[in-house]
Amino acid sequence: MTGSIVLFGPPGAGKGTQAGRISELTGKPQVSTGDMLRSAVANGTELGHEAKTFMEAGLLVPDSIIIGLISERLRDEDAAKGVLFDGFPRTIPQAEALAEIVSVEAVISIEVPDESIVERIVGRRMDPETGEIYHIEFKPPPKEILARVIQRKDDTEETVRSRLSAYHEQTAPLARWYSDKGLLIRIDGNRSIDDVGNSIASML
Ligand code: ADP
Ligand code: ADP
Repeated sequence: MTGSIVLFGPPGAGKGTQAGRISELTGKPQVSTGDMLRSAVANGTELGHEAKTFMEAGLLVPDSIIIGLISERLRDEDAAKGVLFDGFPRTIPQAEALAEIVSVEAVISIEVPDESIVERIVGRRMDPETGEIYHIEFKPPPKEILARVIQRKDDTEETVRSRLSAYHEQTAPLARWYSDKGLLIRIDGNRSIDDVGNSIASML
C-alpha cells in the first residue's frame, strides 16, 4: 500500500500513544506536526518563532506554515510509500492541500469525550530522551526516569480549553469531510491503551 494514513482526534485522544504501534504494523513513518513544531521552537528557527505564540495560546498555527512544513517533509525518501500523519490535517484547507500531494487511504478517528480530555492532558508527561509518552495515573513513568520526565508547556488546564475549542470549531468538521469520502474509521478511544490499539490493529 502506498497511501498515507491519518490519525485523527481531539488533543489527548491518544494519537501519539498509538502511533508507534501503527507505524510498526504498516511500515509507514510517523509524521507529527506537533513534534515538528516543538523541535522548530526548541531549535530557535524562524518557523519556530512564528509558531510559538499560537502553540502557547492553544491556537492552531496558520495553515500556510503547516502546509509548507508538510510539503517539505514529504519530499524525504522515507515518505515515498506513504506516512502516518499524527495531528495533521487539522483544518479543511490543510486536508485539501494534502489531497493534492498524497493519497489518503484511511483516517482513523480516535473518539474521546471532552470530560476525559482535561485529565489526560494535564497528567501527560514525556521522556525527552526516548519521546515516550506517559500519564501520571494511566501510564506512570518508571521510577528510573521519573526525574527526567517533562510536562509540555501547553498542557495546562487553561490552555487545554482553548485547544478543545479550536478542535471543535476548526478540526471536528473534518470528520464529516473524510466520512463523505468513505475514509473515516471511528474508534472508541475511551478504553484502555491496549484495547484501543487492538481495535485499530484489527482495522488495518
Ligand atoms: P494525543 O497525541 O492525541 O494528543 P497522547 O497520545 O499524547 O494524545 O495521550 C494523551 C495522554 O493520555 C497521555 O498522557 C497518554 O499517556 C494518555 N493516554 C493515551 N491513551 C490513553 C487511554 N486509552 N487511556 C488512558 N490514558 C491514555
Ligand atoms: P495535541 O494533539 O496534544 O493537541 P500536538 O502536539 O498535535 O498536540 O499539537 C500541539 C500544538 O501545535 C497545537 O495546539 C497547535 O498549536 C500546533 N499544531 C500541531 N499540529 C497542527 C496543525 N496540523 N495545524 C495547526 N496547528 C498545529
